[in-house]
Amino acid sequence: MFAAIQAHQSRQSIMNFCSHCGAPVHVRIPEGDNLPRYVCTACATIHYQNPKIVAGCIPEWQGRVLLCRRAIEPRYGLWTLPAGFMENGETTPAAAARETLEEANAVVKDLELYGVFNLPHINQVYMLFRGRLQEGQASAGAETLEVRLCEEAQVPWDELAFPVIRETLELFFEDRRRGVYPLRMSDIMRGADNRIEVRRY
Ligand SMILES: [Zn+2]
Repeated sequence: MFAAIQAHQSRQSIMNFCSHCGAPVHVRIPEGDNLPRYVCTACATIHYQNPKIVAGCIPEWQGRVLLCRRAIEPRYGLWTLPAGFMENGETTPAAAARETLEEANAVVKDLELYGVFNLPHINQVYMLFRGRLQEGQASAGAETLEVRLCEEAQVPWDELAFPVIRETLELFFEDRRRGVYPLRMSDIMRGADNRIEVRRY
């Protein structure tokens, strides 16, 4: 139990002041809870921290996949799939479609959930959708240097921005060869030796 609390605590974003009233916060386990939280010393607001959902898309066009080269940090200049944090009030496929439009000026249709990827070391869950790229049209958005429609052999495997993108593309091309796309799920974690470990379900 103590190890679980320590692990949980080490993944919290540091907070000094209450975002509600501005008073200092302290760390304690609220009554009825079993994990330490930041709790305001003045207004008693409990500041829960929970994982964020990143929604993304695998835009497909005539057997090729649309990749974007990042024009922003982190991983400036490396290749990724269109993806980003969900906004409040959005659905996951709407978020995936919006990110694709923003990053690649591309419209995707018929979105189908393809992959759920747990990244517990950075408190994120990726939800990746397959989508049909309308008329194969795309161009670089504000956060993108260039876009490219890639066959499997054209994917810049050594210049991918994130392990979750590599995992998604590896699974996708594996499934494409067989012509079936079951829902995929993997845990992608940074181990004690700082190496990325992938566990597929
Ligand atoms: Zn407060």
